[in-house]
Amino acid sequence: LSGDDENMSQAEKEIDKALRPLSFRDFTGQDKIVENLKIFVLAARRRGEALDHVLLHGPPGLGKTTLSHIIASELDANIKMTSGPVLDKPSDLAGLLTNLERNDVLFIDEIHRLNPIVEEYLYSAMEDYKIDIMLDSGPNARTVQISLNPFTLIGATTRSGLLTSPLRARFGINSRLEYYDSALLTSIVKRSADILGSPIHDDAAYEIARRSRGTPRIANNLLRRTRDFAQIKGDGTITVEIAQFALNALDVDHNGLDEMDNRILNTIIDKFKGGPVGLSTIATACGEESETIEEVYEPFLIQEGYIKRTARGREATELAYIHLGKIPPRQIGT
Ligand code: ADP
Repeated sequence: LSGDDENMSQAEKEIDKALRPLSFRDFTGQDKIVENLKIFVLAARRRGEALDHVLLHGPPGLGKTTLSHIIASELDANIKMTSGPVLDKPSDLAGLLTNLERNDVLFIDEIHRLNPIVEEYLYSAMEDYKIDIMLDSGPNARTVQISLNPFTLIGATTRSGLLTSPLRARFGINSRLEYYDSALLTSIVKRSADILGSPIHDDAAYEIARRSRGTPRIANNLLRRTRDFAQIKGDGTITVEIAQFALNALDVDHNGLDEMDNRILNTIIDKFKGGPVGLSTIATACGEESETIEEVYEPFLIQEGYIKRTARGREATELAYIHLGKIPPRQIGT
């Protein structure tokens, strides 16, 4: 259910595009970030200058790409999209940068995965809108400096902790996206259902929302699958019964935790007596990288109260035991 681009069919990509909010007004939630961005965008437009560089961080599927498109469109600028791992050589970056028009936006997804040499080049581009390009090699080698049009770099990352400090320091605007609560996700589900032309009851929208791990991308994906069930098993209307049936058939956890969330909780409880246990130990036991656990899974589990972060490591809470149908330790033997 990750909805990652590689796993999507053409039809799914079309739907995804149709559901993407196109303006700040359509974008639900993240109020503080949006309010600030609106002001910065307006001010940049009034001055006729490029917007300061923007770093958007936070777990996948919360709207970083969507917001970047909105920023470009509200700036009345073009947006060029790329990603850290794709920019292999400085010349790839130079090619993109020299093609930007005045005040355009360059979006670099997974910016924490930039090749360090490419990253070096980015510094002067971000700071002075200049880039030094090496011509030839060996005895004929020389560098020429190319002036760029003023532009805005928007970097997106799920792992802000992995960004080097010189890179981080070059972003004037730095925003962390938060998980969405069920009320916000309910309105996102309703808006999406409306665009898809699927009638949906309020309680059904809420049921999908609360089982979506605080993430709009997951909410939209679950809505699409639920809509299939409504068309085949019902009359097309998404009722709460249909939603529950569909979500259970899709193996969506009743609280919206995914497989890795549950694996982490089970590991802390079964292998480490509920903790406290260090992050890297959990990561090894779960077969996942520590950074991914720390930046993608753990924030949601902490926010929802399944894990506590203590000085000695991570601890499973009573809620985690109850969620997994296990007996919390202090109740054992009472
Ligand atoms: P990210 O770049 O953070 O991984 P995306 O911007 O690709 O996330 O968002 C994933 C999907 O979720 C998008 O297709 C978009 O339709 C939807 N989405 C994200 N944020 C919102 C929002 N605030 N309101 C409505 N839909 C949203």
